[in-house]
Amino acid sequence: MSPLPPAVSAAVAAALGAAPADAVPVGGGSINHAARVTLADGRTVFVKHHPGAPPGAFAAEAHGLAWLAAAGALRTPEVLGVGEEPGARFLALEWIAPATPVDRRGAGATPAERFGRGLAALHRYGAPSFGLDRDNTIGPLPQSNTPCDTWAAFLAERRLLPLTRMAVDGGGLGPATARAIEALAGRLPDLCGPPEPPARLHGDLWSGNAILDADGGPVILDPAVHGGHREVDLAMMRLFGGFPPATFAAYAEDHPLAPGHEDRVELFQLHPLLVHVVLFGGGYAASVERVVRRYA
Ligand code: ADP
Repeated sequence: MSPLPPAVSAAVAAALGAAPADAVPVGGGSINHAARVTLADGRTVFVKHHPGAPPGAFAAEAHGLAWLAAAGALRTPEVLGVGEEPGARFLALEWIAPATPVDRRGAGATPAERFGRGLAALHRYGAPSFGLDRDNTIGPLPQSNTPCDTWAAFLAERRLLPLTRMAVDGGGLGPATARAIEALAGRLPDLCGPPEPPARLHGDLWSGNAILDADGGPVILDPAVHGGHREVDLAMMRLFGGFPPATFAAYAEDHPLAPGHEDRVELFQLHPLLVHVVLFGGGYAASVERVVRRYA
């Protein structure tokens, strides 16, 4: 048994109405400590916590999960409790029992197709603006979501330019590349393709944030939600792989992409690449430079 820190355990007990009786670590997360927790009343829940979690980050994640769930398109874990006391910050979620390989062999649409169609429905549900009514985080990094009138403006002002400054300040990016990104940001109105309404985006859709439940149904986790261009989620899915061609095919069948979408994939990968430069340093700078050169 690996107990939760006492302060977290007490906060979970107060929020959920039953004390944690057992906690087993869950791997796979990039930032927080995660555990499968059995409560004294027999419920099994998922709890993630971190002593250094920034104030409001778990509350923003809880909001993001509910915002995605409102679309009724893809399953998200139900939020059971959020703790914002310093030293005892946590997020408690419904435990999603993972699929075993045999669960994935169902009749009808495959999990890959279900995910593609669900993502299309999520995007189509839409968002009130390019942005969000609150700020949130991508991984551990805070991000501003103050709405902009156009997607190109949002991508430049709220994503590429702030991340470029962070990457330069952290030493991961040189001034010449930063200037090239600034020039590129000014040309985004010509590069972002035909206008699209704001889509309801997950915002951090690498394969670790999409799991299968015991019925082989897709579940999305750990979002960085905002209203944005739908090709952003698809570009992120391609960046680190892990999503089969059937997912993209099912998506495109339900919600065809605008002409030129293939030429925008790398453009929309620039933001997550910059996030990686800030978090993990120079190794990703070469990828950033390659993308910037391509669109120069
Ligand atoms: P981090 O904030 O550290 O990135 P994640 O939210 O990605 O943490 O979660 C860490 C791990 O826990 C992931 O591998 C994920 O598969 C698993 N996980 C996340 N939420 C749940 C849940 N509600 N039920 C079961 N497992 C979960």
